[in-house]
Amino acid sequence: GKGAAMVTAVAYRLAAQHAERQRILDTLRLSRAQLLEVKNRMSEEMVRGLTKQTHEQASVKMLPTYVRSTPDGTEHGDYLALDLGGSSFRVLLVKVRSGKRCNVDMHHKIYSIPQETMQGTGEELFNHIVDCIADFLEYMGMKGASLPLGFTFSFPCDQSRLDQGILLKWTKGFKASGCEGQDVVTLLKDAVRRRQEFDLNFVAVVNDTVGTMMTCGYEDPKCEVGLIVGTGTNVCYMEEMQNIELVEGEDGRMCVNIEWGAFGDSGELDDYCTQFDHTVDECSNNPGKQRYEKMISGMYLGEIVRNVLIDFTAKGLLFRGKLSPRLKTRGIFETKFLSQIEKDRLAMRQVRSILQHLGLTKSTCEDSVLVKEVCSVVARRAAQLCGAGLAAVVEKMRQNRNLNQLSVTVGVDGTLYKTHPHFASIMQETLQDLAPQCQVTFHKSEDGSGKGAALITAVACRVKSGGQH
Ligand code: BGC
Ligand code: MG
Repeated sequence: GKGAAMVTAVAYRLAAQHAERQRILDTLRLSRAQLLEVKNRMSEEMVRGLTKQTHEQASVKMLPTYVRSTPDGTEHGDYLALDLGGSSFRVLLVKVRSGKRCNVDMHHKIYSIPQETMQGTGEELFNHIVDCIADFLEYMGMKGASLPLGFTFSFPCDQSRLDQGILLKWTKGFKASGCEGQDVVTLLKDAVRRRQEFDLNFVAVVNDTVGTMMTCGYEDPKCEVGLIVGTGTNVCYMEEMQNIELVEGEDGRMCVNIEWGAFGDSGELDDYCTQFDHTVDECSNNPGKQRYEKMISGMYLGEIVRNVLIDFTAKGLLFRGKLSPRLKTRGIFETKFLSQIEKDRLAMRQVRSILQHLGLTKSTCEDSVLVKEVCSVVARRAAQLCGAGLAAVVEKMRQNRNLNQLSVTVGVDGTLYKTHPHFASIMQETLQDLAPQCQVTFHKSEDGSGKGAALITAVACRVKSGGQH
């Protein structure tokens, strides 16, 4: 009768809505063939970045770092380190003791960098950094000491020596004017000079991936790759000098900062980008840039999720079709929520309370299930893309060395990698699948970027003074 017809109509509508949601989520799911294609395109792009003739046009810059030797345990002394470009700005004092390995003592202080300073003038930004250094020296009772300093600066820099780095472009949340195209060591030295209070002895500019690799390399000599999956994402690895056409010399190896976040900037990822990726890109600080990073790292995953939820709601597939003002707010979905929502054994009631915390108060239990599914699809894609890129890197190292089987350690840092319940395992699964001839061990680095800058500085001082630092 009429009742049965209505029930059928409701069931039909629910099934149609379910199908519609899945159709949308499917655009965020990648097949094995697609991941293999990502790996292959990454391999090609890496070669283009290393080759003189194609370097200019390549999206992946493969920047030489002038880091060649890893610590051998004889380094010693006190070093200052700065760490800029991750989730916090830190100043560190690192005491390296020779003899036993892993003998490093650290003191540090975290400073905030206000949004206005990140996006104001370069002079303001570097003045602020120098204020923080002054505060730290005061705090440690070290004013007047001119220690060797390593600067972890986690942005793409063109280096022609260890103690110089020309900022190619800002990424992540930074946008201070007048810095791109400038040597960041000079910018910092100028700010120190303006203050006329103390001197600094700059030895090294270091990318955070390189610092992470070096820190792990101090404990595990097989560590020849550094990976960051945090606010941004990037990888460095040891490449053969003869393949690095931008640097003279054919012997041995040098660490190359891939700057893989920019992969996709020449369209390499267009086949996989969804409408949500396009929206996130367009609303970012740097439209058209860092396309791979925007599909993987912590600064953007929450935004992808938020845009999917907005679309679902607008189509009446979520939150009873009611768009809350909170949902329209950029940045509400921080990485920590993504990680929390996906915790196994988290009851739907808890997911709902997280949503409530985000101001999404009128959610039903079905809404919670769906939000959790969106988070899971977005994080899975990120981890798989990251694994596919990493497969290209380790495969290149294996082929460089003419090995049948490569065994290598990757030093990793970054909040997303460290806090997300499934990111690491999905990434490793993809890597294993796409690079079966490589045996890859992951080593989480503690404080890698800051400590690493100090170690690189220590190695440089050892080499410079013939071991007599
Ligand atoms: C930067 C890299 C950095 C990575 C991780 C990216 O946005 O371009 O230099 O290594 O973030 O911090
Ligand atoms: Mg060469």
